[in-house]
Amino acid sequence: MVLVFAEATNGKFKKAAHEAITYGTKTAAAMGTECVALTIGQVENAGDLGRFGATKVYNVNSDATATFDSGVYAAAIAEAAKQLGAKVIVMIHDSTGKSVMGRVAARLDAGSAPGVNSVPTVSGGGLTVRKSVFSGKAFAEVEITSEYKVISVAGNSIPVEETGAAATVESLDLALPASRTKVLETQRATGRIPLPEAELVVSGGRGLKGPENWNVIEDLAEALGATTACSRPVADVDWRPHHEHVGQTGVAIRPNLYIAAGISGAIQHLAGVNNSKTIVVINKDPEAPFFKAADYGVVGDLFEVLPKLTEAVKAYKA
Ligand code: FAD
Repeated sequence: MVLVFAEATNGKFKKAAHEAITYGTKTAAAMGTECVALTIGQVENAGDLGRFGATKVYNVNSDATATFDSGVYAAAIAEAAKQLGAKVIVMIHDSTGKSVMGRVAARLDAGSAPGVNSVPTVSGGGLTVRKSVFSGKAFAEVEITSEYKVISVAGNSIPVEETGAAATVESLDLALPASRTKVLETQRATGRIPLPEAELVVSGGRGLKGPENWNVIEDLAEALGATTACSRPVADVDWRPHHEHVGQTGVAIRPNLYIAAGISGAIQHLAGVNNSKTIVVINKDPEAPFFKAADYGVVGDLFEVLPKLTEAVKAYKA
């Protein structure tokens, strides 16, 4: 059996949860078994996960799971896998998945593969998965041979497929450890789609000259329904919040469209964005290295180009 931890935020499932279920369903089909979903805490419409292939949805909801705690969540996932007899555990490769998967693997003495981007092939008792390595410059094929296998799926790498109908939801009673941390405050960083899941991203760099000029980035993002991002130096000097910083030391993204304005295209920046499906670069310097990685390039002043692009998007949508 394949068990997918379908993460929800404020009770609602993200697109990445549907991707993980799709991934789990395809993996289960390759193994000749079924895929079930696990939800933790209070969630809305959990049965809907059946539409993406989960044959059943299990929910763990107790005082211990009221707020996110990676130790408690990991215990819940590992115990659910043991109780249900699931040998493959799938989750989303986001901050929650990253903080939980190592603990789940340790509890189950499992081999793990973080950030995979293709459905595994099955050979005997092993699963071979593909993941990008060296900041997206190469792919590695990894065979997991342990009895339990823990996998996290990179965002936007598996197209969501609707294959089934709503599934039944069953509560799972598990003995969970008490939380050893206490959440004092939760702040939502932005009203927009979080960067790792965003399909459209508009990003600015030092070419913007200062935080007071970010309206040109915000306006285009607003018109497109995109999420905003930035280069590292911009976050380092507090022009933008750190959670917007993309690159080797920031968030790695794989949107369908990445528009970069006033960013030179240093290798450390490219490391986090070069998996984008289409890259558009706006830079006044025709020699900017980013143009080599771009699908479309505009040589020009971003303060002229971005407002025109925004007007064009608005006119197209009107
Ligand atoms: P710049 O390199 O200064 O480029 C600004 C660009 O704007 C120029 O190309 C210029 O031609 C253009 N421009 C200026 N005015 C205009 C205008 N009016 N219209 C159009 N274009 C204009 N960087 C990251 O982004 N992410 C990372 O994760 C990251 N990690 C790093 C890790 C390490 C260990 C190190 C050493 C560096 C890292 N960096 C990272 C920094 C990286 O090397 C670059 O310094 C950084 O990406 C440059 O940011 P930038 O492109 O915004 O600025």
